[in-house]
This record gives sequence, C-alpha cells and structure tokens, in this order.
Amino acid sequence: MFNTLSDRLTSVLQNLRGKGRLSEADIDATAREIRVALLEADVALPVVRAFIAKVKERAKGAEVSQALNPAQQVVKIVNEELVGILGGETRRLNLAKNPPTVIMLAGLQGAGKTTLAGKLARWLRGQGHTPLLVACDLQRPNAVTQLQVVGERAGVPVFAPEPGNGVGDPVSVARRGIDEARRAQHDVVVVDTAGRLGVDEEMMQQAVDIRDAVQPDEVLFVVDAMIGQDAVNTATAFRDGVGFTGVVLTKLDGDARGGAALSVREVTGQPILFASNGEKLEDFDVFHPDRMASRILG
Ligand code: GDP
Repeated sequence: MFNTLSDRLTSVLQNLRGKGRLSEADIDATAREIRVALLEADVALPVVRAFIAKVKERAKGAEVSQALNPAQQVVKIVNEELVGILGGETRRLNLAKNPPTVIMLAGLQGAGKTTLAGKLARWLRGQGHTPLLVACDLQRPNAVTQLQVVGERAGVPVFAPEPGNGVGDPVSVARRGIDEARRAQHDVVVVDTAGRLGVDEEMMQQAVDIRDAVQPDEVLFVVDAMIGQDAVNTATAFRDGVGFTGVVLTKLDGDARGGAALSVREVTGQPILFASNGEKLEDFDVFHPDRMASRILG
C-alpha cells in the first residue's frame, strides 16, 4: 500500500546523503518534498502540516551527533515523527477485569467488519482466549451466515438470532449474546454490527443502542484504508456519533495511497490496534507503529 510513498520518501532522504552539513535551505527543501509526498499519498492536510512543522523544527535544532551524519539524523527524525503520528507505542487490547471482555465492531458496510470478526476471533483463540462471536448485523442479507462461516473457519462459536424470526432486534441479540457468553464462560465476546454504505443516522443510533446495551470494553472502528480522505470523515462521524476506543485498518494489501492509515490516529486521537492485509483469516496482525514506520521508510 505504501510503495509510492515509500519510494518518494526514500529518494528525498537519499538526496541528503553525502552532505557534510545541512543548511536551513537544505532542510526547507527536504521538508517541502516530504510534504508533497505525504499529500500525494492522501494524508490529511492538518496531519501533514503538524508533521512537517515538527520535522523542520527538530532538524534545524538537531544536535551535532558523533554517531550520525546529517542525513541520517533527518531520517531518524522523520522515522520518529512517523511512529508518533501512527500512535507511538503498540496499544494492547483492553481486557475486562471481570470477563467477559466485550468488543464491539463498528464501521461502514464493506469496511471488512465481518471478516475482521473472524480474524480477531482466530487471533484471540491463539492467545488462549475462548471467544464468542455475536451476529448483530441483521441489516445486510447474508451477514449472519457470513459470520457463521468465518466463525467455523476460526473454530469459534457464533451466537445468532434464530432463523425465521424476521429481521430481529440487534440490541436484543447483543444482550442475549452476552448472557450466553456468561453462561458458557467465554472470556471475550466480539459483537459484529451493521454498517451502511455511507454514514447514516439510523445506523449510528443502532450502534449507540447496542453500545449502551452491552457496555463494551472496546469499541473498534473498522475502516477500509483504501477509501482515502473519506476514511477521515467517516472516522470523525463515528467518533462523534458512537465514540470508539480503537481503530482497525483493513485492506492494507490494496494499492491505494494509504493516507487514511497515516491520518486516522492523529485526526481521531484514538490508537490503531490491529491491521488487516488480505481476505484470509490469517491476514491480520497487531498494529505496531514502529514497524509500520520502518516499512514506509524502506
Ligand atoms: P462488512 O460489511 O464491514 O462486514 O465487510 P466484510 O467483512 O463483508 O468485507 C467486505 C469485503 O472486503 C469482502 O469481500 C472481504 O473479503 C473483503 N476484505 C475484508 N478485509 C480485507 C482485507 O484486509 N483485504 C482485502 N483485500 N479484502 C478484505
């Protein structure tokens, strides 16, 4: 996903190589080129501005280091600032003191929530947990069946409304799902919810109702990294409408420009916890800001 950005940044930083000293003009020119590279990668403007300001300030004030030449110092600064906008430290999942831990997934239709539910369940199992998936997306035809399929692949049971009950009430399914988790001693519950193609009030209200009913320990906002600047607007709408405690980036395997991935943490103030990079259940991992920054800087 970050190939173009990565190539651009690498070549900008390579131009500094071999310079014994960096003048202010060198730093300004480099900062300008980094700015263009980030904007072309679709990173949100306020994020780019803040990033460039920090890099410039630090590069100009950089202490003369015995160990690093000026070019290496700029690379180090850019790397550290990238790690910073990606959230700094790896943020671990919040587990409830009194199980079950309730994780609610929210996001637009097609963001990859149902797929992610399976991935997360599989990952949780691998961590020694005993998860239960709860099917509260009663809007999209087949969402329940799709969750049952991924649950089966992940080896994780799925709580779903009984067939033949009409559309059903997702809030009631969510509540009953948590009861079932208590009864069968599942220590983590992952609640899949309905999305729409665009942000809409009814969907937000439904997510709020489910949230209030299940009191989640984590609300994870699932966002398709390929939707560009729209990701930032959607994230803001969900933050204000439902509120969330963490972000999951999906479709990082795509060839879009990926600025969403670089903006969403700064814009929403919430950390990225996981990343998905493919359709298969194993195409999923904990998000590490430092590893992502190293990948971007090549
Ligand atoms: P939902 O509507 O949010 O539940 O989204 P789905 O889980 O149904 O995913 C929508 C589509 O995106 C499906 O075709 C998934 O296979 C696909 N998908 C989900 N995650 C990824 C990913 O990380 N990479 C790619 N390439 N496709 C994904």
